[in-house]
Amino acid sequence: MALKASIDWDKCEGNGVCARVAPEIFSVDEQGNSDVLMEEVPENLRAKAMLAMRGCPTNAVIITEM
Ligand code: SF4
Repeated sequence: MALKASIDWDKCEGNGVCARVAPEIFSVDEQGNSDVLMEEVPENLRAKAMLAMRGCPTNAVIITEM
């Protein structure tokens, strides 16, 4: 089952943790603007997606089962 990745931009502080843990899925630029590169996360990136969700200090990363 694939996962859906999104970011709650009201909570995001742009610290870049998600992009460091899962660069295939998230990006954060020098200004701290985060983006979701891959909204449908394939099974082989599940572990990275979950790491990003757990690692986000503001709980802004949202991962849901599709
Ligand atoms: S880890 Fe969380 S707070 Fe940091 S850039 Fe990613 S979504 Fe934003």
